[in-house]
Order: sequence, then C-alpha cells, then structure tokens
Amino acid sequence: MLTEKQFADLRHKMVKDQLIARGIDDTRLLDALRLIPRHRFVPPEFRRHAYQDAPLPIGQNQTISQPFIVALMTQMLELRGDERVLEIGTGCGYQTAVLCEMADYVYSLERFPLLADIAGRNLQKLGYDNLDIHIGDGSQGLPDMSPFDAIIVTAAAPSIPGPLASQMSENGGRLVVPVGTAKSQYLYIVRRFDGRHQVERTIPVRFVPLMGRYGFKEKPKRGGSPPASV
Ligand code: SAH
Repeated sequence: MLTEKQFADLRHKMVKDQLIARGIDDTRLLDALRLIPRHRFVPPEFRRHAYQDAPLPIGQNQTISQPFIVALMTQMLELRGDERVLEIGTGCGYQTAVLCEMADYVYSLERFPLLADIAGRNLQKLGYDNLDIHIGDGSQGLPDMSPFDAIIVTAAAPSIPGPLASQMSENGGRLVVPVGTAKSQYLYIVRRFDGRHQVERTIPVRFVPLMGRYGFKEKPKRGGSPPASV
C-alpha cells in the first residue's frame, strides 16, 4: 500500500510529465489536478496505477479516462468558476470532481445506478457539495436544468446529440464530445454564439460508447430467436 504522501508525489509528477509537458496550461485546472486524489476514485486493486498515463477499469465495463484526456477536455471548456456545467457519463466521479473545482455547479448524468452511487459516495467523502447526480439517458441531456454554459460528454456518440446542442447557452455555450464509431472517434468542440453552432474537430480519441436514444443502440441479446435462414 502506498502512503498518501507517495500518492501526492505521483500526482504532482503526473501533472508535470503528462499534462504540462503536453501543453496543458490552464493554471486553475493544473491546481485542481494536483489537489484531487484520483486514487480514491479507482477500485482498490488499481489504486497504485491511478496516476499512470492510461485509462483504468471502474466496473460495469466502463473506464476512467486517461489523465491527459480529462485535462484536455476540461481545458477546452474554458471554465472560470461561475459556470453551470452538464456532464454526461459520471462513471467513478473523477471528472465530476475536476468540474466541481473549476465551475459553480455541476449536473452529472449516469445510466448505471451502481456507478452513480459509487461516484456520489466518492465525491461526498471528499466534501464536494456543488453537484447533483441524475440517473438516466444522458444522450437526451437535462432539459429542465438547461441552458448550460458548458457540457462535457465522457462517452463516444455516433453524432453530436441534438438535445445537447440545444441545451447549450445561446451565447458562449460550449460542448465537448467524442464523435465517431463505437471503436474510434475524434474529440469535437462545439461553440454557440447568437444561437448558432460552430463545430471544430480536434484529436483522435477512444472512448466507451454513449448508449441511448441519441447515442449507440443496445445490441439485441444473444440466445434469442434462431436465425430465420442458415
Ligand atoms: N467521466 C467518467 C468516465 C466514465 S466512462 C470517469 O471519470 O470515471 C463513460 C461513462 O458514461 C460510463 O460510466 C457509462 O456508464 C456512461 N454512459 C454511457 N452512456 C450513457 C448515457 N446515455 N447516459 C449517461 N451515462 C452514460
């Protein structure tokens, strides 16, 4: 077992070698990433790997994103501290914690109740109280709470989900979302001014799929009815 001091040393090294070295320069973001104990968000058996340059399993076939990707997506949101943010894909809650440090209030949506529950407990233990976790299909967003200054999707969509685009603030709203196939995607940033959307494609990425009405569709379970012809 590593001590808290050893975890903190690994965390500072992660910020220096993986983030600053690759161009992350938002100082509030770097401070947040030096502060948040990422190891407390990953399952105990992976804790010693929490500060490695890689995604890690968090259960339910889902992953916590690589630190650089968390940093890059958050930096793209250009948060100053007064924003209302919508996050799709709470997972273990690590990205949520980063958003709680960087913005005023975070609404986070997760489809698996078990993950929502784990994330809620992780965040509560660390004292975060400027967030609400909702269970449901995040591809439809949270219309009742919209508009949002910033929206981040931490799962891959087949196209930019329409409801999310329409829940962006009309002036200055931004949305960061991986878009592509279930296996490979590009990270997109959408900006909205005077109600109009401007879309920019950035780097290639690989995320788990966003399931749901405006995401990927669930495959029918095997073992159902036999094929009609052979
Ligand atoms: N930000 C998370 C990453 C989790 S991986 C973290 O730091 O841990 C992507 C997450 O998106 C998974 O938890 C998955 O269950 C969730 N997800 C996929 N489709 C979803 C949908 N339609 N609505 C809400 N959450 C969804």
